[in-house]
Amino acid sequence: MYDLILIRYGELVLKGGNRKQFTNTLKQNIIKQVGEVPIVAFDRMYLNYSEDNLRRLNYVFGISSFSPVKKVETNIEKIKEIVLQELDPNSKTFRLNCHRNWKKFEYNSEQIINIVASQILKNTNKKVDLFNYDEKINIEIRENYSYIFNKSYKGLDGLPVGISGKTLHLISGGIDSPVAAYELMKRGVHVDFLSFITPPHTDDKTIEKVNRIVQLLSNYQGGSKLFQINYTDLMNYIGFVSDQSYKINLMRRSFYRIADIIAKKGNYLAISNGENLGQVASQTMESIYVIGSQTSLPIYRPLLTFNKNDTIKIAQKIKTYEISIEKANEACEIFAPKRPVIKPTFIHAEKLENELSEIKELENQAIETKMTFSRFKNILQ
Ligand code: ATP
Ligand code: MG
Repeated sequence: MYDLILIRYGELVLKGGNRKQFTNTLKQNIIKQVGEVPIVAFDRMYLNYSEDNLRRLNYVFGISSFSPVKKVETNIEKIKEIVLQELDPNSKTFRLNCHRNWKKFEYNSEQIINIVASQILKNTNKKVDLFNYDEKINIEIRENYSYIFNKSYKGLDGLPVGISGKTLHLISGGIDSPVAAYELMKRGVHVDFLSFITPPHTDDKTIEKVNRIVQLLSNYQGGSKLFQINYTDLMNYIGFVSDQSYKINLMRRSFYRIADIIAKKGNYLAISNGENLGQVASQTMESIYVIGSQTSLPIYRPLLTFNKNDTIKIAQKIKTYEISIEKANEACEIFAPKRPVIKPTFIHAEKLENELSEIKELENQAIETKMTFSRFKNILQ
């Protein structure tokens, strides 16, 4: 039976003050996720062993790998005894690995392996096989206590969420924007969400999808905020514009003017989205320029250059995919012009907005009176 979980993190990329901030944020995030305080040793953390803790560590960014371990006094007799005790009774072949982190220990790694291996060979019928082993036992020698383990799980890597500030993320019920949010979290960004809905064109199902997606993503960062704006009046208003091919473009410009106001009020350092270059008419270089000009904040687009297959793989892994592909009414299907402009110009978009003299007024009203706010907690069961 294991005593602890040993948590390893990306040491290589960290230097100086960054490292300290990294360790502190990671520690806080682990506390939030498992409800226990890990012990921090220079380049490791240790947590009490439980199946539940093991599972929860799969939701914490910044961990490179983790192993359930047996803790033993750093004493060669004790180490021999524990390794023998912990062997898998069903294995026929084994391999030992030793890492001597505490260089003052009286034996070096090779000697430790020889001593422990002879003990196993003497007391069991198992054989050494360095390549086709049934079981690999790792011994990590540290001052005072050493650690013995036979399993390692890959962590999420990246940086602990919160270390890089926060973004306001435009979320839809589609496949891309949830994956983009996940990618931002991976770089240590805390993500809050903004979603535009247009009932009755979008049904309750759309809202429910967004809620379920935000809930899933919240499990990776201890909670999120979701701002939801009823955009129906604005959408209808934009529908009056003289050049119908610009409708989607104008709507997206309006999204970013609204996002800009909310983000600045909430001290967000960026707006982000799931845009992917060239995917649809609204994501050509021209469209991205004309739309993105409506905020002075940087816009983060983690999926800009992704291939769809790679996005789908991530969506499947984080289980947002199955929600995203559920059928729901999307406003764009009704609102979208037959031939949306593919290469919009800035000047023409502005000219059309002059026809819509009340648009900014309506946008402010939408923020004041048509916005709902909800908080999502980590509810990992
Ligand atoms: P997604 O799968 O994320 O919907 P998509 O490939 O379908 O992306 P679009 O629908 O053109 O592309 O949207 C591009 C981006 O604009 C989305 O990734 C999302 O960030 C944002 N977006 C689109 N619709 C909405 C909406 N109703 N509310 C908030 N953001 C939206
Ligand atoms: Mg979409």
